[in-house]
Amino acid sequence: MSAFDGSSSSSSSSSSSSSVKRPNILITGTPGTGKSTLAEQAAARIGFSFINVGDLVKKHECHEGIDEEFDSYVLDEDKLCDVMEPMLAQGGCVVDFHSPEVFPERWFDLVLVLRTETSVLYDRLVERGYSEKKRTENMECEIMQVVLEEARESYDEQMVSEIPSNSVEELESNVERIAAWFANWQSNNTSS
Ligand code: ADP
Repeated sequence: MSAFDGSSSSSSSSSSSSSVKRPNILITGTPGTGKSTLAEQAAARIGFSFINVGDLVKKHECHEGIDEEFDSYVLDEDKLCDVMEPMLAQGGCVVDFHSPEVFPERWFDLVLVLRTETSVLYDRLVERGYSEKKRTENMECEIMQVVLEEARESYDEQMVSEIPSNSVEELESNVERIAAWFANWQSNNTSS
């Protein structure tokens, strides 16, 4: 069970708030599971910066063109990490990206993998205007738990939690769970 799932995660070392950098949170999952929506709302709720990695890739051209077959960017991972490193250095970021394995483990304190039921995800991908090929690729990715496996391989299991993302109620609940996790982190990392 990870700290996010409810086990207490008391830190053995307390120090003053001024010397402790805030945590960074990664929100990942198959495209369409609701990463951007949750990351933006959670960041606003706890006063963190929201980092949409897809936008960064385009803005800083962290890619080597478009893969015509998969209709997606061929990522330049080194360049992307160079752009992101200073942004995350002080902590306090909620990062949204579908490929959790491209980042160093040390960047994050919590990794949330959003999961969406197949029928719900299908409707979202249709609404997004994805081609049948791209829909199928993403549906298979979700069914095969590809992102969840990548996250588990890339980060300490204590850091990784799988959370449902099918409804507005679950979205609201996820925002509150993140706020509660951060409140717990603060009480473990600041002296009273
Ligand atoms: P991603 O960033 O994972 O590609 P988005 O955040 O863009 O996904 O969400 C995809 C679509 O699903 C958007 O139309 C968004 O409004 C909707 N959505 C996201 N999360 C939820 C949720 N928990 N319940 C219902 N709709 C959602």
